[in-house]
Amino acid sequence: MDRHDLIALKAKRNSLIPIPLGIIILLLILYLFISFGYLKLGEYSIAILVSLIVVAIIVTVPIVYLSTTIDEYSYLYGGSPSTSPNLTSRVSNIKNDTVIMPYAFFTVNDNFRNIYYEGVYSYLYGLPNASLPALVKCLEAGIKELYTLLKQQTTLSPKESQFINNINIKLAQIKKHINQDPLNDINLSNLIEAARVYYPDKKEVLQYLRSLRNLIHRIDIIKDEDAKYALIRITEALNTLYEIPESIKIKVKCEICGEVHSYDSNKKEYYIGNVISLNCLNPKTEEERKYYAKTLMPSRTEVHF
Ligand SMILES: [Zn+2]
Repeated sequence: MDRHDLIALKAKRNSLIPIPLGIIILLLILYLFISFGYLKLGEYSIAILVSLIVVAIIVTVPIVYLSTTIDEYSYLYGGSPSTSPNLTSRVSNIKNDTVIMPYAFFTVNDNFRNIYYEGVYSYLYGLPNASLPALVKCLEAGIKELYTLLKQQTTLSPKESQFINNINIKLAQIKKHINQDPLNDINLSNLIEAARVYYPDKKEVLQYLRSLRNLIHRIDIIKDEDAKYALIRITEALNTLYEIPESIKIKVKCEICGEVHSYDSNKKEYYIGNVISLNCLNPKTEEERKYYAKTLMPSRTEVHF
């Protein structure tokens, strides 16, 4: 429905307004006759009952009439945001895949947290073509940042130094431009190849990560299930590159007192859609009402709202 149709529909609705108005006036006249009749007979309770029924009808008729389908379309043109009715079911669906959020990856850089957030929510809102590139960006940026971080370290594991070497080889092949970090010129497949030392026993994972480039650059539409699979696999890859400690700390905005509390948690619990029960840590909160539940979701900030 375009804006034109909407205006036409609204005009049609307004031209029909005399009909409900007429019904209301007719009811009022009828009401006067009936209630006078009962009042004359001294039947006050019946007169009151009739009055209540008439008031209920007078209120209901305009509401029903005005909330036609037109108003359901109006919000689209009014610019008010709407939430996807599917969101809840999609969250409970992805919950079954226990996608442990890349906690250690988030701590490296707040931008990473933001991009990942957008990738996940795009998927949840049914926008696979927005979701997958955002998640691939996480992978790409994650590998590059790992290189930068490891280069600053003095001691490296054999795996880490191999990774550094692999990237260095690629960097040497890149023509250097003035004032430009050659790291930005390494393409996704070369980055994935360099990071293969992190997946010694995971041939399929590596194969899948290589195929991501095709998914993004093909003209075809990215399907919903492809975006979901990418979300699961890329998150796993990020957790391999940036290993999460077993016990983690999460910050949550308390549902009871509104303050931000810090809780000790386990990485196994830190998955998308997991509902955890928490207690308010504010000493002022009464014992009986300090428990609340939180659905763990990616957040733009360190705090889960
Ligand atoms: Zn609290």
